[in-house]
Amino acid sequence: MAIDLRSDTVTQPTVAMREAIANAPVGDDVYGDDPTVNSLEERVAALFGHEAALFCPTGSLANQLSIRTLVKPGEELLVETRSHIVRAELGAAATFSGITTRTWPAEDGLLRAEDPLAIAHENAGPYLVSTKAIAVENTHNFGGGTVQPIAEIEKLSVAARARGIAMHLDGARIWNAHVASQVSFAEYGKHFDTISVCLSKGLGAPVGSLMISTKERIQEARIWRKRYGAGMRQVGILAAAGHYALDHNIARLAEDNLRAQKIAVALAAIDSSLVDPKKVVTNIVGLELSKVGITAGELASRCKEAGLWISALGPHYARLVTHLDFDDAQCDQAIEILKGALVAK
Ligand SMILES: *Cc1c(COP(=O)(O)O)cnc(C)c1O
Repeated sequence: MAIDLRSDTVTQPTVAMREAIANAPVGDDVYGDDPTVNSLEERVAALFGHEAALFCPTGSLANQLSIRTLVKPGEELLVETRSHIVRAELGAAATFSGITTRTWPAEDGLLRAEDPLAIAHENAGPYLVSTKAIAVENTHNFGGGTVQPIAEIEKLSVAARARGIAMHLDGARIWNAHVASQVSFAEYGKHFDTISVCLSKGLGAPVGSLMISTKERIQEARIWRKRYGAGMRQVGILAAAGHYALDHNIARLAEDNLRAQKIAVALAAIDSSLVDPKKVVTNIVGLELSKVGITAGELASRCKEAGLWISALGPHYARLVTHLDFDDAQCDQAIEILKGALVAK
């Protein structure tokens, strides 16, 4: 069997998770009758110290429903240049919600409060676009799994809210951030007006994300979810996988983070320009290949031939993501394959 490190979305539901799915009490969630969905929404909202949550099929939808409750058509959302919302959601904010986005660049996607604050224009008047919200991605995917410092989040949230600008957290991998930083979910939660979280990444559920916010915004988002065609019926079978994931798969993310670190250390020993192990703090290892004389596509195909799947995300940028279905023995194997592929010039 090939080792698949293209993403942490590739995991298979375990037998125990499938049992939880099989045993879930369900109802028609469009009528609000699915007890497993309802309890998951209440549980996740409480975890982040918010009033309510909404189960969604994808993190993209949870992001899009969130930002449309904060920003009206013709108004502006600020995001980091390589954030998922602007790079990997196919222009959804513009297409569905008429939202203008403007970006600030950050090295490794690392948040510095002053960056978005310097470009924000709240109440910009009748000629200029008004900034209504700022989105923060934690961990930052294309930044290499970067954990955002809680002090910068707090500084940004205090200053932005004082200026009437709302805060959105793209927390697809907030679980990995929590395990690495030991900052509680409630502490993260209090700095944001809306939050999206994914159950289908490191937590290992087959499907599922949630939007988290006030009762009022969740009510509004529920209408838009149905309008987009994502009102789901006996979806408690998926919410049950989410409950199982929250019960069993958060603390173990520390192992994924550790294996990513092990890979980074081994590769940096071959060529220090490939990756800085100090920057690998969660489960994503980004490889910078411009100085080693091999393209990301070539590295990915060499690895694939040897039984390891990785992602080529740019001409000279490859990404490996550790996860639930990747153990210590496979980690050693992956390192050997990567070494072979990098050294064979
Ligand atoms: C995966 C991911 C999402 C959501 O992706 P979906 O495939 O729509 O579930 C959102 N933000 C980030 C940072 C992600 O990595």
